[in-house]
Amino acid sequence: MGDLDAFRSETRAWLDANCPPEMRVAMRSEDDACWGGRNWTFQSEAQRQWLEAMAGRGWTVPDWPKEYGGGGLSPAETKVLSQELAAIGARAPLISFGISMLGPALLKFGSEEQKKKYLPEIARGEIRWCQGYSEPGAGSDLAGLQTKAEAAFDEELGDHYLVNGQKVWTSYADLADWIFCLVRTSSESKHKGISFLLFDMASPGVSTRPILLISGYSPFCETFFDDVAVPKDQLVGEENRGWDVAKYLLGHEREMISGMGLGGGGSLGSAVGPVDDPLLRAEIAAYDVDSLAFSAMSERFLDQLKAGEAHPALPSMMKYAGTELNKRRHELVMAAGGSDALEWDSERSNDGKAPRDWLRTKGNSIEGGTSEIQLNIVAKHILGLPGA
Ligand SMILES: Cc1cc2nc3c(=O)[nH]c(=O)nc-3n(C[C@H](O)[C@H](O)[C@H](O)COP(=O)(O)OP(=O)(O)OC[C@H]3O[C@@H](n4cnc5c(N)ncnc54)[C@H](O)[C@@H]3O)c2cc1C
Repeated sequence: MGDLDAFRSETRAWLDANCPPEMRVAMRSEDDACWGGRNWTFQSEAQRQWLEAMAGRGWTVPDWPKEYGGGGLSPAETKVLSQELAAIGARAPLISFGISMLGPALLKFGSEEQKKKYLPEIARGEIRWCQGYSEPGAGSDLAGLQTKAEAAFDEELGDHYLVNGQKVWTSYADLADWIFCLVRTSSESKHKGISFLLFDMASPGVSTRPILLISGYSPFCETFFDDVAVPKDQLVGEENRGWDVAKYLLGHEREMISGMGLGGGGSLGSAVGPVDDPLLRAEIAAYDVDSLAFSAMSERFLDQLKAGEAHPALPSMMKYAGTELNKRRHELVMAAGGSDALEWDSERSNDGKAPRDWLRTKGNSIEGGTSEIQLNIVAKHILGLPGA
């Protein structure tokens, strides 16, 4: 038996013994997700057990080095683990912007002290992070951000920054413990005047105001900073070179969002059941074929990414393809469901899951950079067309 086959058998046996049956059932809503953090209340004993078992093995972040709380697995072993998790329909033990966004950026740009402090906390789900990038005047044109961090000194805090400004669309800012935040430390250059700071959302001067959406939920906030003192050792990378960190992190964010194109696996045709309208049936079949092609493309993309061989613009291509595909999937679910699919507040509709999920997909092609911006990046960096 090869090493990888042996790893697969051991993994299968371990998952069989350690993944509670309740965690092998698809999530019914976002409420079933485990986000972790200082104030997290587990929804069930099974959810707690599953996180503890996976974090104990470093398998919430299987390919991170062991000294930072990871599993130390090779890319091939990581892939086997995700195949075995998928085979038993296991839920993610932890959903976290720390895992999908900040962690990879810290592994590349963080100091040794920062890696030792923040990465194990992320791996164990102890700190919930939010992303402070967008501002009222800086979304697609992110480098136009104006939140300021000025150097300051006092006896008590020593050298620190004072942060003032506003962010917007900060997902879960009201629930997060810490923020990774882009700030302007110099106005001399647009891109080379940005720095990447980490700070506690409980710091004096931080406040959040939830934004209510058409879906009835408030998944994001306006976030305000009023003389927030941030110790200088919470700067990641060099001062004024935060744009490099920001872009690298965005690549990982786009990789994560592209996964929405996988539609949770399985054929849409089987999920919606018999459909009378032959044109709609054909559209569903065409979607299923494209979805299979996307899954194959996604597997190749992740292999290239893990091997460090992915073109830097590939996450943009995958984010565009995955999110547009996911929007198409949910349009078809709504069309196949007819007027019943619009049912909103009822037990039968699982509290309007279908229409709420459909509305949520509209944000997929905006978050992490809009589809138009991804197409501009693909045009410029992959197709070599003149800059947009
Ligand atoms: C669900 C969701 C979650 C989010 N979570 C976060 C978060 O946690 N943290 C955070 O910081 N931000 C978050 N965002 C914000 C997101 O990053 C921004 O909405 C996005 O970058 C677009 O910026 P904008 O909304 O300012 O739109 P704008 O930049 O004003 O764009 C408006 C329109 O103009 C188009 N456009 C702009 N420039 C160009 C161009 N050069 N070429 C062609 N078309 C162009 C855009 O494609 C878009 O259609 C979230 C957004 C959503 C929807």
